[in-house]
Amino acid sequence: MNRKDPAGYYDLLGVPHTAPVTEIKSAFRQKAKDLHPDKNSSPDAVRQFQHLSEAYEVLSNPDTRARYDTLYVQIPKSKTAPHHQEAPEPIVCSCCKKVTAQPRYIIFFQVTSCIILTFRTPIQGIFCPKCAESKAIESTVTTWLLGWWGLPWGLFYSVSTIFQNLFGGSKPNEVNAHLLTYQAWVFATQNKFELARAVAADAQDFARKIKKADNRKVLDSIEELLYNLDTKTPPKRLKNVWSIPNQAFCVQGSMLITAVSLFVASSVVYIQAEAHQTNPIVPPTQSDARPLSSPKPEYVRPIAADNGVPFPFISSYIDGYLIQATGGYSNVIIDNSQNSSDVFVKLFSLDADPPTPVRVFFIRADEKFTIEDIKAGNYDIRYRDLDSGALARTDPFDLREIETLEGIEFSEVTLTLYEVYGGNMRMHSISENEF
Ligand SMILES: [Zn+2]
Repeated sequence: MNRKDPAGYYDLLGVPHTAPVTEIKSAFRQKAKDLHPDKNSSPDAVRQFQHLSEAYEVLSNPDTRARYDTLYVQIPKSKTAPHHQEAPEPIVCSCCKKVTAQPRYIIFFQVTSCIILTFRTPIQGIFCPKCAESKAIESTVTTWLLGWWGLPWGLFYSVSTIFQNLFGGSKPNEVNAHLLTYQAWVFATQNKFELARAVAADAQDFARKIKKADNRKVLDSIEELLYNLDTKTPPKRLKNVWSIPNQAFCVQGSMLITAVSLFVASSVVYIQAEAHQTNPIVPPTQSDARPLSSPKPEYVRPIAADNGVPFPFISSYIDGYLIQATGGYSNVIIDNSQNSSDVFVKLFSLDADPPTPVRVFFIRADEKFTIEDIKAGNYDIRYRDLDSGALARTDPFDLREIETLEGIEFSEVTLTLYEVYGGNMRMHSISENEF
């Protein structure tokens, strides 16, 4: 029997101890097919299938797999290796196979996604500090590259995984307490007493983090080991190579900072682009000159005119504003039929100083509105595109009344409002004060 595969699970599935869970999954599917009663009539098939399911159940869960992987680190009852027996094997890193005084059982995760599928795969094993750092970076890079692209879990799992790996992955306390107690004992059998005590002290740190109800047994075995090694002085501590920030933390941290900076920069560019897009009537000279540091506050379509009266449902004058400059003969037709946006419009008399609005009205998108009985004078039309908030005015125009033999000749003007330039009048952007 393989000491490191006490129930023969890896053997049964035919995968190495370092196999990722995806390999374990596909090996299980294949073997399960072979053992299916339709294919396999051997009387042992049912028992074999149960054993296979058990193997899969244990190895596909990162926590039970961690326990299984460290079952072999048991200190024999006699506590020291008798001379006639083989010397106990120290724990080695599952990556580089080197003996380390500070092994840790660690579970990192990596996330890969594709449209609606997201996989969170554990990368686990006994690692030396160096291999742990490269596993952390590897898992994080994979997550950065492949984790995001699944809805809705890709983003959620990627963020949590990136932070978990950044802080060194998950190190199960009980498993690590056992692991280090065993390693300390191996060093003791090799007469490396100082090292043994230092490693045992690390084991004690993990044991103290286990739930109170479950930690007695492991704490007892560590205390017994330390008692046997006692040299009347407290154990020296190993240099903490697992402390944060280490190199892996810095590498992953800079990835995170880069990603966040890129995100912030692209959001700023996007907001700028959006702000620019919502002002189609504003001439480019004005909007382009706006400094980047003072973005225009986002425009929200008002529900009421300046006087607080809600905009009507049909094109009409707005209640609460005086209808002035009346008694004339001229008419102005405001054509908003080329525009996909409702507009809030004012007819300004330019004969007054300063120019004052004499008619205030609302025109729905795709409609026309006629201002009637306007007295002669110099005017312009100012309006707000209610979808974008943009303000514009027309060129000034004269409304005339001339008495002739046939009666009075008067003006009949049609002004087309456009979302963009191209109407029969040139549009000029204006400020809030001019409206
Ligand atoms: Zn290693």
